[in-house]
Amino acid sequence: MPLTSRQSGPPVPPPVPPMPARAPGERSAAAPLARLRADPRQAVQQDWIRCLVCAASFRQLTNTHLRSHGMTADEYKRQFGYNRGRPLM
Ligand SMILES: [Zn+2]
Repeated sequence: MPLTSRQSGPPVPPPVPPMPARAPGERSAAAPLARLRADPRQAVQQDWIRCLVCAASFRQLTNTHLRSHGMTADEYKRQFGYNRGRPLM
């Protein structure tokens, strides 16, 4: 949908999304999300789990966080190919 208002005047910058948290010791924030989605087991490490929606990392991936993406843990697991019984931590 094209933006038709604001033809004149200063441009309004889009809202800046929050920077995703990075895993400890990881240098590049941009890269690995696609790779992790391709192999979701890589997103689950001993000390952290990476959210495959927003790339933030956590000690565990909570239902509260997944709800912020509009999905349940079951939906998350199904979407990214985790076993249903696998804990997200
Ligand atoms: Zn997330």
